[in-house]
Amino acid sequence: MPTIRSQILEVIRDAYPETFEGLGTSKPLGESIFSGRTPHPNEVLNLFVQQKLTSALPMAYYMATRRGLNSLMDRRLPRNATLPLEILQSAMGGLMRLRELELNETHDLIFEQTGSRPCSASNCPSRAPTGPAALAAYHQVFDRIVGSSQLGTKVLQVPEFYEDLDGELRCIGPGICSGCVERWESKHAELRKKAWASLPGVFGLKDCCPSSLLSWTLTTGTLQRVLGGVGISGRLL
Ligand SMILES: [Zn+2]
Repeated sequence: MPTIRSQILEVIRDAYPETFEGLGTSKPLGESIFSGRTPHPNEVLNLFVQQKLTSALPMAYYMATRRGLNSLMDRRLPRNATLPLEILQSAMGGLMRLRELELNETHDLIFEQTGSRPCSASNCPSRAPTGPAALAAYHQVFDRIVGSSQLGTKVLQVPEFYEDLDGELRCIGPGICSGCVERWESKHAELRKKAWASLPGVFGLKDCCPSSLLSWTLTTGTLQRVLGGVGISGRLL
């Protein structure tokens, strides 16, 4: 059944992209594409490692890692979702380095621009970077980017710097000018790219060159098993 097989591989490639450009912000990524029972991201990672799906590994590692240590090391998981020591170590090491990158870059995003040249908008709180209004805004930015990720990471996600207040779109830092928000957005876009490019390195995948899907050894049967035994949803096919 070569057609089903290539369709399934296409869907996997879409959900575990090989390039930054494949990382659409609105499309479903990772295990959420599977219909029926949604596999735990550890389970998908285990399978991809076993099957040497090297091109999908950076994303599979990221999907397992972003939920944090509790998810990586959850003792209640079934055997096929329990990570072997070597994979666990790579995943934890990668998580720590992604957290570090995320924190450092968020710090720079806020303070590098305020330090070198103050915002030119006359009433933007950023002009007084240590004033209460600016500090409140910066706190919100930190929170938006790294705060709620707890012990995991959200580094590939696009943060929302505006919120809807009764139909009115307002910046999460009250009074902050749109120029400042645009700078945050473009800096964060750079952070996402940098984080993406670092994935193979932080997860110790340096030596495994990206392989084409054509060289995957996965059988259709195995693919269907990981897809919950029933295949993938009709919408995706
Ligand atoms: Zn400003």
